Amino acid sequence: MLTGETGVDMKSETKPIHGLTRNELVELCAGLNQPSYRAAQIWRWLHVNRVGDWQQMTNIPAAIRTQLAGSFSFFSMQAEGSKKSADTSLKVLARLHDGETVEFVVIPAPRRTTVCVSSQVGCKFDCAFCASGRSGFTRSLDAGEMVEELLLAEKEYGEKPTHVVFMGIGEPFDNYDNVLKAVRIINDQEGLAIGARRITISTCGIIPGIERLAGEGLQVELSVSLHAPNDELRTRLMPVNRRYGVGPLLDACRQYTQQTGRLITFEYAMIRGVNDSRSHAEELAGKLKSFQCRVNLIPLSEVEEYGGKASTPEVVNMFIKVLGEAGVNATLRNSRGSELKAACGQLRASHARKA
Ligand code: SAH
Repeated sequence: MLTGETGVDMKSETKPIHGLTRNELVELCAGLNQPSYRAAQIWRWLHVNRVGDWQQMTNIPAAIRTQLAGSFSFFSMQAEGSKKSADTSLKVLARLHDGETVEFVVIPAPRRTTVCVSSQVGCKFDCAFCASGRSGFTRSLDAGEMVEELLLAEKEYGEKPTHVVFMGIGEPFDNYDNVLKAVRIINDQEGLAIGARRITISTCGIIPGIERLAGEGLQVELSVSLHAPNDELRTRLMPVNRRYGVGPLLDACRQYTQQTGRLITFEYAMIRGVNDSRSHAEELAGKLKSFQCRVNLIPLSEVEEYGGKASTPEVVNMFIKVLGEAGVNATLRNSRGSELKAACGQLRASHARKA
């Protein structure tokens, strides 16, 4: 528990200092008439030494620290509680400065520690099978709040994260600027230094976001939640499909791959009797076969909010086989996938039920 941490600033008019990019920090220090090395010093305290409050920044003049504390919060978020689950992932519920909550999950695996980060409080997109959308949407997170999720994850778990997936609550491309800012901050060589290829952004298929990301020149991984091979079914499962249908979405993905040379991973939650028939597999294979990509099959994580069941292992194997025969690389997301289910709004939802 981090409750009682010194330096927690609950003032809502302040912004999290961890959300400033290096350039923004340089501009800020210049505006305060500080020498040019000041920004580098502050950056080191924040992202390398990862100190717990302003007072620990011993080489920064007290007057500057006070001035900064007036406009910026240090840790604006507190861990409300954390829970290790049977699969050894650590789920943390964090209380934000305005009383809202988000969750993040630390998922250990051999030689890697992945943190599944939330990008919004709630979600607007209301996918039928996902717990996150059920309680509606409240607000987007600031870049600093997302960086803080990682710093809190490190403190709570005791190890530095090596991989980050934006697969917690919310839609990253509905909060594009803040998510990209957070990516640049955590990717900075001097700091958390998480390599771009170790950062995954997952989208429900917001085409303008895919197009923008293609132009960023970043090597981040992109996952697209597809879950159905045609508009009729996908619209039933994912209302966002009314706006961004399967055809235009796959065109945008193809364009992304051509422009960046990077493979997209399609997420496909396998729901018994809903999207897991042989004909669904064939239809999906037909649409993806001419296209360099990967498919991640994830047996549905059964949530109270949705009556659906996970497909059986036999059916998942049939799907992999049909896709494979068409030349589409499909894998079952096993341990990591089943642990990641914890991130799909379920902790927040179950917390709300208990409250
Ligand atoms: N909004 C983003 C990221 C958040 S969800 C997106 O839609 O991609 C991360 C992944 O978990 C998505 O692929 C989502 O469709 C999937 N997911 C949500 N609920 C699930 C469930 N009950 N079982 C399996 N996967 C689920």
